[in-house]
Amino acid sequence: MVMPSVLIIEDDDDSRLAIAKLFARANWKVLEAADGDAGVELAIRDRPEVILCDLLMPKSNGFQVCRTIRQQLQPTKIIVVSGRDYPVDRASAMEAGADEYLLKPITWEALSDAIDRLLPATPRPPMATKLSFLMIRRPPRVKLWGVRGSLPTPGPKTVRYGGNTSCVEVRADGEIIVLDAGTGIHGLGLALDKELGAQTIKVTLLITHTHWDHIQGLPFFSSVYNGKNLIRILGYEGARAGLATILAGQMETPFFPVSLRELPSHLAIEELKEMEFHIGKVKVVSKFVNHPGICAGYRLYTSAGSVAYMPDNEPYEFLKVQVAEKDGIDGDQARSFAETERAKMVEFLRDCDVAILDGQYTDEEYQRHVGWGHSPVSSAVLLARDANVKKVLIFHHDPTHDDDRIDQMIEQARDLVAESGHSMVIEGAREGVEIVLEKREAVRVKG
Ligand SMILES: [Zn+2]
Ligand SMILES: [Zn+2]
Repeated sequence: MVMPSVLIIEDDDDSRLAIAKLFARANWKVLEAADGDAGVELAIRDRPEVILCDLLMPKSNGFQVCRTIRQQLQPTKIIVVSGRDYPVDRASAMEAGADEYLLKPITWEALSDAIDRLLPATPRPPMATKLSFLMIRRPPRVKLWGVRGSLPTPGPKTVRYGGNTSCVEVRADGEIIVLDAGTGIHGLGLALDKELGAQTIKVTLLITHTHWDHIQGLPFFSSVYNGKNLIRILGYEGARAGLATILAGQMETPFFPVSLRELPSHLAIEELKEMEFHIGKVKVVSKFVNHPGICAGYRLYTSAGSVAYMPDNEPYEFLKVQVAEKDGIDGDQARSFAETERAKMVEFLRDCDVAILDGQYTDEEYQRHVGWGHSPVSSAVLLARDANVKKVLIFHHDPTHDDDRIDQMIEQARDLVAESGHSMVIEGAREGVEIVLEKREAVRVKG
């Protein structure tokens, strides 16, 4: 049985202690913070089921705290406690994201009534032991659920490579890690429901950036609609707004009937601050790439090899030189900048087992799309070759490319690499393909 947890954010030591005792007596795990900022930090780190928050506190006040926590933690229930009963305070607190407003002094009766109202049949976050056990026994693998860039492209001419936008699932070391939530995530959700039935679905979703082709499937991901599931969404702050604000934005009423806040799963959105972190036992290293706005690439180090995912990225080599020519900047400097950036990218991909790379354009098309944030196939494969990647999957197919066109592009890429005497495996990313990662060098493809 998992003990429920409560976070008490209150600057008055005596009041905080008194409330903490009430919860401790009822067998709750109690966390305490003496000011708003510390409270927000603890809330995001420990994700308690219930937060009690005072309104008037130093640093961030209770309204700000509610707003910040609400943006990042949808399932957590927030109870504001206040010594004042002004209707305007009550209304502002609710608007900021509070679920209840209670008056001081607080009694256990009032608290437990409020908690019963807020968490009536909500299951406690269940233990995922059984699930982890099942997954550990299966070999780590990568499955492609959406490989198209920019726009979903269904139809008879794209059946072999698929029409759904970016979504890749990595199963390794007891984790289900999903890279991007393009429209491909719809199929993943259905498959998880079928596979796991009544068990908890515990998923970590890593978002590279919030262009539509990488997030548009999220409102159609069935796992977020079930209270038994634990969904953690990680990504970096956008250029104009935070990750949670942007994800909530695409679900606002004019665009979608259910808001992000209303999703019943245990859903937490966390902005990444580090470029290296762990998801369970899987080490993740991030790298910001060249793409409009803020966009990251990820490399996952599993117990059976590593997978790099860089779906949207433009090489600097042509871009910088072209810009330099136009702006009268010294061409040598531009070339040296591009070389340094490329070398960093090679390091990022070094000895990777599977690299999923942006290869949206042919060389000829790319000449008309310099500065659009995407890569010609030749750049992607030469980058992978120089990094000694074992297998490269050309990804983010252009919506105007049908199956035959992608076949041609992949053939050309293979010729290019073969000319230099390399044996790297090159495939066009195909929806539905599963790649089993094996501890040794070889990787095997099914499906
Ligand atoms: Zn994209
Ligand atoms: Zn993009």
